[in-house]
Amino acid sequence: MTQSSNLPLDSHLHTDLSPDSDVPIDVYAAQAAERGIAEIAITDHVDFDRRDPAYRFASFGDRERVAREAAERWAGRGVAIRFGVELTYNRTWEDEIRAHLAHHTYDFTIGSVHDWPGSPYRDPQGLAAWVSGRSDAEIVEPYVAEILGAARSGLFDALGHLDVVKKYVARHVPAGRLGEAPEVYEAVLRALVESGTALEMNTSGLRQAPGETYPTAAVVAMFRDLGGTTVTAGSDAHRAETFAFGLEDGYRILAEAGFEELAFRRGGGPVAVPIPSGRGWS
Ligand SMILES: [Zn+2]
Ligand SMILES: [Zn+2]
Repeated sequence: MTQSSNLPLDSHLHTDLSPDSDVPIDVYAAQAAERGIAEIAITDHVDFDRRDPAYRFASFGDRERVAREAAERWAGRGVAIRFGVELTYNRTWEDEIRAHLAHHTYDFTIGSVHDWPGSPYRDPQGLAAWVSGRSDAEIVEPYVAEILGAARSGLFDALGHLDVVKKYVARHVPAGRLGEAPEVYEAVLRALVESGTALEMNTSGLRQAPGETYPTAAVVAMFRDLGGTTVTAGSDAHRAETFAFGLEDGYRILAEAGFEELAFRRGGGPVAVPIPSGRGWS
C-alpha cells in the first residue's frame, strides 16, 4: 500500500487546524501538485461536545481564510483546494450541527461518528469488560444507532468512514467479521439512499488496525444493490506521509462496484467527478 498518484480528488484531509494533525495546508497542496491529485478538500474537525478535542479548536473564520488563501496560491499550479469540514455527529447534538450549518457555508461537508464521551468505545479498559458476553452486533449497536441518525439527518453531503467502529473494537471483533453480518449495515445504507447522502470510501482503515477500508467492497456493493448512486473517496490523512494513501484502492473498489463518478460539491449544487477509466478497474 502506498500513496496514490494521478487521481481527480481526495475529499477528506486534516491540517494543523485539526487537533490531531500537524500538517500545514501547503504540504498537502505540494504533494497534490507533485502526485497529480487534481483537487483536494480540506475537512478539519468540528466537534460539538466540550469534552471532545476539536471543540472550538479552530474558528470558522481561521479555517476558511487558510483554505481560501491556499486555494488562490495553488490555483495556477494544477491543484484545486476546497473548503470542507468533518462534523462529529451524535443525536445528542444534532440541533447544534443543524444550527452550525445554517450559519456557516462550506464547499463540502462530511458527517462522521467518532467515539463520543460516555460511549463504550472511548475507554479501552472499560470496553474490554463491556464487550464480555455481547455479540458482535450488540457490541457495535451503540455506534450503529448514531450512524443511522447521521444518515437519516440529511445534514451532510457525505457520511464519513461508515464503519470506523471496526477500529474501536478491533481487539474484540476481528476485522472482516462485521462484513459477514449484512444486517449491521442494511438500515444505514437504506437511510443514505433515502436522504441522498453520499457513502464515503475512506481508505484510512488500510493503515489502521482493521487493515481494510471503511467500508469494505462487500458493503459498497450492498449499497449499490440497495439503490445507492452517490459515493466519495478520501484518504483521511492526518500526516503528510498518508496523503492519498491507499486512495487508488478505494477508487478501484468503487469502480468495481459499478460507480463511474464521485459525488462532490464545490459550494452551490452537487457536481460529479468522473472516476478515471481505462485502468483495468472495472
Ligand atoms: Zn473522522
Ligand atoms: Zn477525518
